Amino acid sequence: MKFSENSNQAASYLRLAVPMMVKHKIVPNPLNYTLWYSYFSNAFPKLNQELDHVIDRYGTCPSEVSESLFLQFVNQSGASVSDDIFRDAIFNLVGDLSQSIDETCEKTKKFSLALNDNLSELAQYELDDAIKPLVNKLSENASAICRVNEQFQKKIDSAQEEIQSLKTQLEASKKDASTDLLTGLYNRRVLESIYRRYANSSQDLTVIMMDIDKFKLFNDKHGHVMGDQILKVIGKLLQQECLEPVVPVRFGGEEFAVLCPNIDVVSAGVIAENIREKLARIGFSNKRTGEKISPVTASFGIALKQGDEELMSVIERADKALYSAKSNGRNQVKLAS
Ligand code: GH3
Ligand code: MG
Ligand code: MG
Repeated sequence: MKFSENSNQAASYLRLAVPMMVKHKIVPNPLNYTLWYSYFSNAFPKLNQELDHVIDRYGTCPSEVSESLFLQFVNQSGASVSDDIFRDAIFNLVGDLSQSIDETCEKTKKFSLALNDNLSELAQYELDDAIKPLVNKLSENASAICRVNEQFQKKIDSAQEEIQSLKTQLEASKKDASTDLLTGLYNRRVLESIYRRYANSSQDLTVIMMDIDKFKLFNDKHGHVMGDQILKVIGKLLQQECLEPVVPVRFGGEEFAVLCPNIDVVSAGVIAENIREKLARIGFSNKRTGEKISPVTASFGIALKQGDEELMSVIERADKALYSAKSNGRNQVKLAS
């Protein structure tokens, strides 16, 4: 089972969970975050009753109790928030926090300026001896507030820098999680999420599976490093030849998949044929030894989504067509029957 929240909902639960944990001095570790996230998402009503009871009794939730409740409820159910949703939720939270800090700072700054203006105005008047000490005191207090504000502003500035760097790190981690490092293409997870996005539409959705021919032999002959270079070049070729909305991904190893939304099998066949031809014409050479390397080829299988077919089933059919391309001599495109 998984928590089914989207990232906005997830962020709202986190927003409630964090102050609750701070209030009750609960150690901010992943186990406790999950527990209190579960509490606010009301995933396990019985867990909420137990937590309410523990907080009433101890004013906090001792670590041993947290662990035991976690094991009893969350772990038992196998529930988890998907990494994507959790990352987006934190991203939303940090973004909101940063914005509200900015707004608060702006207001505080205005307040300090207004206070200074009022006091300067007051200083122009001849004041009665009886209220002079009071005004002086007021002025001293106002200066103290301004000083505290300045310090606060400095702290906020450095916190904002930290938030910015956290956002950059989150963005990078999001990219890492969806991108294949060697080829720069999206990975299989992205294929699944893009497929889901188009799957309910009545438009055609076609999948091309592509597999490099005799790549094991290539590695044995020219080495793995050279093999990696080939994969990089193929990544670039795919990026260059697949125009919106066509999405190429590295499916794994020396296999690639190309998702073609709103494209029928015949047009997908043209796309695959174009990639096949271009790849077979690229000349490679070993930069170190200068040795010329004969072109690398690939075989392709294509299948069109039938009704509400799952991605894995479309891939299986495309793979069958791919195997027939292999057994028919490789370096060719076959359509699934
Ligand atoms: P076929 O034409 O039938 O597909 O033959 P093949 O040799 O390509 O297929 P096989 O599945 O036997 O071998 C796949 C090879 O792909 C073996 C593996 O070393 C290579 N390979 C997979 N991932 C990588 C990678 O990241 N880098 C390099 N250099 N090689 C890889
Ligand atoms: Mg293979
Ligand atoms: Mg292969």
